[in-house]
Amino acid sequence: MTVNFHETTIGVLALQGDVREHLAALRDCGVRAVPVRRPSELDSVDALVLPGGESTTISRLLETFELLEPIRQRLAAGMPTFGSCAGMILLADRVLDGRLDQRQLGGLDVVVRRNAFGRQVDSFECDLDMAEVAGGPVRAVFIRAPWVESAGADVDVLATVPRRPGAGPAEGRIVAVRQGRVLATAFHPELTGDGRVHRLFCEMVRGGVRPRCAAG
Ligand code: GLN
Repeated sequence: MTVNFHETTIGVLALQGDVREHLAALRDCGVRAVPVRRPSELDSVDALVLPGGESTTISRLLETFELLEPIRQRLAAGMPTFGSCAGMILLADRVLDGRLDQRQLGGLDVVVRRNAFGRQVDSFECDLDMAEVAGGPVRAVFIRAPWVESAGADVDVLATVPRRPGAGPAEGRIVAVRQGRVLATAFHPELTGDGRVHRLFCEMVRGGVRPRCAAG
């Protein structure tokens, strides 16, 4: 199915986190963007954004609002999905340093480490080159962020933390990935006013971005 931007509706999971910022970034891309809090709202969207926030809280609310299984099913059926920070954690098949009762949506064949930059490190910023995003480096804002410890063979690594003074153990860590129609960043492109990562996601929704891995 060819999706026209103007006919496309992208939902933002609106249980907790920086929902408004994602809605605004998506609207700037020219798509219809709506908050999703209940299964009927999920049914009405073509794609979904999982915002930054607190993955343990969002996980609990996903169960309370009866969205955990419906979103898992949509992911399994190929719904384009973008998770930033806590959203990346929710999409990961495995989480290190998570809470025991934390539930995963899964669908992204990665192992992430929660609060990987160090619990005491509230935020960290750097410019990084991101594959599939043209026009120079992306300003990456990390807030109590995860990183990807390991990624499966079908996962494209889109960005790593560059070598720079102060990067410490974060240097070289994977912080943006794509697996088919699932995109995830450990940082928050919704907070910088640079719409290029959201535009990449909109292109994925429209079907204009193909996996970089050779098939097979
Ligand atoms: N540390 C948070 C968590 O575990 C993520 C923080 C964020 O989304 N900015 O979910």
